[in-house]
Amino acid sequence: RKGVVAIVGRANVGKSTLFNRIVGERVSIVEDTPGVTRDRIYAHASWLTRDFSVIDTGGIELAQRDFVKEIRMQAEIAIEEADVIIFVVNGREGVLPEDELVARILQKSKKPVVLAVNKIDDVNFRDAIYDFYALGVGDPIPVSSSHGIGVGDVLDEVIALL
Ligand code: GDP
Ligand code: MG
Repeated sequence: RKGVVAIVGRANVGKSTLFNRIVGERVSIVEDTPGVTRDRIYAHASWLTRDFSVIDTGGIELAQRDFVKEIRMQAEIAIEEADVIIFVVNGREGVLPEDELVARILQKSKKPVVLAVNKIDDVNFRDAIYDFYALGVGDPIPVSSSHGIGVGDVLDEVIALL
């Protein structure tokens, strides 16, 4: 079976931007307004010699308007369907309670997690990654999804875990 990789994280951290980078096309809609829901988004992708499927869980539409329930459901769907989970956080905003909630759910699942600290667009922001060790889900990897920086490092880790 082809491996499945799910992208999780709270609204507006850059999940869809990272998804599009990984897929190599603009499949997922990048939204400046947090919390906009749309259809669940799957695509095929590859890195080096590996083929896999990617899910943008931010695209999963839920009846729930409660953000805690929504993020919990998205994380649970990712855990159920994925072999490896990319957990995206925003390096410009630090660790928020919603990030801690996702981290706790992922830890309990024992699924392999790759922690992508997004919006590290230049080296001046790089020290922001260290706060994210506190999430307890592994080494934070600095990424700029919009600039395409660090995405290869994330994928190296992903395929090592697939
Ligand atoms: P999602 O809600 O997690 O899917 O986030 P989106 O991918 O829709 O992105 C939310 C906002 O963050 C958009 O305005 C993106 O252009 C912006 N964004 C995404 N990645 C980056 C990044 O690496 N650097 C910066 N500066 N902005 C980013
Ligand atoms: Mg999105």
